[in-house]
Amino acid sequence: MDFNKKVRVRFAPSPTGGLHLGGVRTALFNYLFARQHGGSFVLRIEDTDQTRFVPGAEAYIQDCLAWCGIEPDESPEHGGDYGPYRQSDRKPSYRQYAEQLVADGYAYYAFDTAEELDAQRKLHPNFRYSHENRLQLRNSLSLSPAEARQLLDAGHPYVIRIKMPIDETISLDDMIRGTVSFDSSLTDDKVLLKADGMPTYHLAVVVDDYQMAISHVFRGEEWLPSAPVHILLWEYLGWREAMPQWAHLPLILKPDGNGKLSKRDGDRLGFPVYAMNWQDPKTGTITKGFREMGFLPEAFVNLLAILGWNDGSDQELFTLDELIGKFSTERISKAGAKFDFEKAKWFNHEWIKRSDDQAILPRLNALLANNGIRDANDKYLADVLALVKDRLTFLPDFWEQASFFFKRPDGYDLASVQPRWSSEKTAFFLDMIAKLENFDPWHSAELESFYKLAIQASGMKMGELMLPFRIMLVGGKFGPHVFDIAASLGREETVARMKIGLEAFTQAAH
Ligand code: GLU
Repeated sequence: MDFNKKVRVRFAPSPTGGLHLGGVRTALFNYLFARQHGGSFVLRIEDTDQTRFVPGAEAYIQDCLAWCGIEPDESPEHGGDYGPYRQSDRKPSYRQYAEQLVADGYAYYAFDTAEELDAQRKLHPNFRYSHENRLQLRNSLSLSPAEARQLLDAGHPYVIRIKMPIDETISLDDMIRGTVSFDSSLTDDKVLLKADGMPTYHLAVVVDDYQMAISHVFRGEEWLPSAPVHILLWEYLGWREAMPQWAHLPLILKPDGNGKLSKRDGDRLGFPVYAMNWQDPKTGTITKGFREMGFLPEAFVNLLAILGWNDGSDQELFTLDELIGKFSTERISKAGAKFDFEKAKWFNHEWIKRSDDQAILPRLNALLANNGIRDANDKYLADVLALVKDRLTFLPDFWEQASFFFKRPDGYDLASVQPRWSSEKTAFFLDMIAKLENFDPWHSAELESFYKLAIQASGMKMGELMLPFRIMLVGGKFGPHVFDIAASLGREETVARMKIGLEAFTQAAH
């Protein structure tokens, strides 16, 4: 790798809607590479296709990157030395290069109208504008220079197309795939500049990568077929020496490995594909994102990193800092990576276990507020979190796992206690309630030994008296260690719940 050049990489999404997890992985790999080499990570918004532009998508992309903690050093929002970072704002800079290519014989004006091209498509269902037919179409190669000039002077609309060479082998040295070769005859004469004066992606990406001094391009494998056009443009514009090194990242595949993972697969199989919730501004439809599903950004970033990369060991859990240290292009695989949602959940579970309580308390507070609990104090919340942390796949599971710490049971699993209820049990609990009212110290271990000694003294079986106690406190057969629950609830609340529960049990037994 040539590191004499300062490392500058870019993430170049088009603002067309929700950000697919594959897009975030591309951003992540660019970011890791930049950080690892002390380089810069640029966000460039590729919005030259006005027909696909969606309002709000650009801000959404920036929010997604911020959520993941992979913020760009240069971007439309934060600026930088190579701006503007939005292609529509760079519009005036592209035409001269398209014209230069025409002047040098590498591109040509094409005057064919939309109707003429439609007629061609009707005649030839596989119509492509290429070396095979360009001399039969209406362009500055087929017309005489005077005819072409006349059309230009008359203001006839035109596009500028690249003149693909015939039978040339175009090779690129990909950091992941090694040498990849293309037959130039197989690629059509792509439009470089559109009739409205906007560049197409192909021209804009090359001009911008050059002007922004991009040293390495990490992008999805779906762009590999466009690479020969880009390489020719680097060459034809006289910039070959400055051409970045390429890395085409493996596709992210459907769980069964059959093709690229799409948003539709997520809808069909019930998992998110976008980083964050995306609301289509036209239809108002919301597509669920990883963030809203309850993924921690650390988990999301981690699971993306191992889609197509590993560090050569069995390690799967990596912090962003570890990834910066360990990332290597040599260990990115060529083969597509299957997306496995169960595995994604496992990552989240592991990251919740590792997460810093202080960082997630505000989110839990919000969750409680949504469920009508507004007065939980942070110390209590942190104690409860410690008890249930190991049981959470998603943060919102906290409510299901821990709601009883914040409100009394709505009802009781009477079926589990009622058939074996007895007056001895009623007596045991009445006595226990009286003793607990004065018991000290109110700690889990002390409560447990005290309670168990009392069971032994009663001559009844352990399970016979443990389960009712749990059901009094939480309503059912769930939750963490019952004495931990009692310790957290505190004396007053524990005793109150025992009284209410006992009342319900004895009534049901009659
Ligand atoms: N605008 C392209 C996209 O939406 C960028 C492709 C590239 O990185 O060259 O993914």
